[in-house]
Amino acid sequence: MQTHKMQQKTPDQIIHISALSTIVGASNVLTEDLQSYELDWRKKFEGRALAVAKPKTTEEVAKLVQYCATHSISIVPQGGNTGLVGGGTPDLSGEQLIINCSRMNQVLDVDLINNTMTVQAGCVLQSIQELAASNNRLFPLALAAQGSCEIGGNISTNAGGVQVLRYGNTRDLVLGLEVVLPDGQILPLLTGLRKDNTGYDLKQLFIGAEGTLGIITAAVLKLFPKPSAKVTAWIGLSSVPAAMQLLTLVKSSHSESLTAFELISRRAHEIVLRHIDGAREPLNETHPWYVLIEVNDSQKQDRLQESLSEALMQALENETIQDVVISQSEQESRNLWALRENITEAQVHDGKNIKHDVSLPISQIAQFIESADAQLEKAYPGVRPVNFGHLGDGNLHYNICPPLQGFTEAQWMAQWEKVNTIVHQQVARFNGSISAEHGVGQLKRDELVNYKSAVALNTMITIKKALDPSGIMNPRKVINSA
Ligand SMILES: Cc1cc2nc3c(=O)[nH]c(=O)nc-3n(C[C@H](O)[C@H](O)[C@H](O)COP(=O)(O)OP(=O)(O)OC[C@H]3O[C@@H](n4cnc5c(N)ncnc54)[C@H](O)[C@@H]3O)c2cc1C
Repeated sequence: MQTHKMQQKTPDQIIHISALSTIVGASNVLTEDLQSYELDWRKKFEGRALAVAKPKTTEEVAKLVQYCATHSISIVPQGGNTGLVGGGTPDLSGEQLIINCSRMNQVLDVDLINNTMTVQAGCVLQSIQELAASNNRLFPLALAAQGSCEIGGNISTNAGGVQVLRYGNTRDLVLGLEVVLPDGQILPLLTGLRKDNTGYDLKQLFIGAEGTLGIITAAVLKLFPKPSAKVTAWIGLSSVPAAMQLLTLVKSSHSESLTAFELISRRAHEIVLRHIDGAREPLNETHPWYVLIEVNDSQKQDRLQESLSEALMQALENETIQDVVISQSEQESRNLWALRENITEAQVHDGKNIKHDVSLPISQIAQFIESADAQLEKAYPGVRPVNFGHLGDGNLHYNICPPLQGFTEAQWMAQWEKVNTIVHQQVARFNGSISAEHGVGQLKRDELVNYKSAVALNTMITIKKALDPSGIMNPRKVINSA
């Protein structure tokens, strides 16, 4: 890691910083101690920014972008900086302006009849969930970074998380958007309509665009009834095919009320037990695989508990599963969830690993794991895949730890591309995607070319060039369009 030195500004840069300060106020244009903005969460990408501007309103964003467009200054939009693919990190030029949306944290409207909430882009996800809950509603997007990530970042990455099975990705939770385009115009799509067939659905272009087409400044979000009953179960199983069988069984017994179906390998679980304070083994015996299930509903708690237990007892009897514990309280449910949600955090303390966030047809997951494990073992005898993910959505976080002997951390990290290629070739073989929910950013930009059709890539480049002809909006993220 490089040490963090402040770079001397050129006379032109000093003029730019002074002009940007007149838009948002001098105290909201930062030029020192920028490491928390310039370094990504995984500490994999680090850049140097011209400055960090922190606007409060859409109009301030528009003026900042207009200034940048006039003076050919590249922009990196940023929210909570929890992204995992380097999408919100500037390059090393020291010329790019980070526009960080964290001060744009106002809730603009809560409409309990339309079941919508209108928020500025910098609202932290957890605060949105809490406000929805205090209005007896549910905003279902949930992920382990929810205390820091912001809704603008969630929308820009089309974040997934743990309730996609029932409520869909972020894309499914957004009704309207307001966006500042790369020339500084404000695109007003902030409607709460569930039906609007007046031409292209423009908001969809910006959802999942990772800040390459404009800066999202506000959004209208869908709210849902707050479930009155919720039950969580932790299940031990012998194999991934058994987990897939269980998924089919629970889908048919609990269809609509099944909100989460998470797969966790023994190795992933052990890492949590080793590194997370207070983490406890929920079952008496160990098992090669675990599944965490959550069902929620508007029926009574004891009825939901009873119906899930009935389905799982049947699975025990026919030996689809080997053991199960069902939460009896909110606290027990939280403890079970912590075992799943802390995997990413625990891995940080367990040494470096090579990560994959892949998506597959659910029916192909067991074959994919078997085949990818075998290919990796051939290339690196003793390699240790750490598997977990949202099995119900066909999304695996397939992270690869080195064999116990033979590699220093640095030597293992140097294998990143080779390991990625082995894994992603298997993903392609089983008709999957090399990015399920984290996005492309810088991390997968160059690889994307090998896995997306030329026609699809050229269509993306055409859209980018139409909206951002000078290429100032988060350049060289997702695609290399210059
Ligand atoms: C512990 C942990 C667990 C995670 N779990 C999940 C998970 O389960 N599912 C999942 O999908 N992700 C997960 N993530 C990844 C991350 O939290 C999400 O990608 C999140 O949506 C990023 O939000 P953010 O505000 O931090 O965005 P940032 O990291 O700041 O930015 C992400 C991207 O969005 C762009 N961007 C940010 N704000 C705006 C804006 N207002 N307008 C335009 N572009 C913008 C940036 O340029 C960048 O390309 C996890 C991350 C961590 C650290």
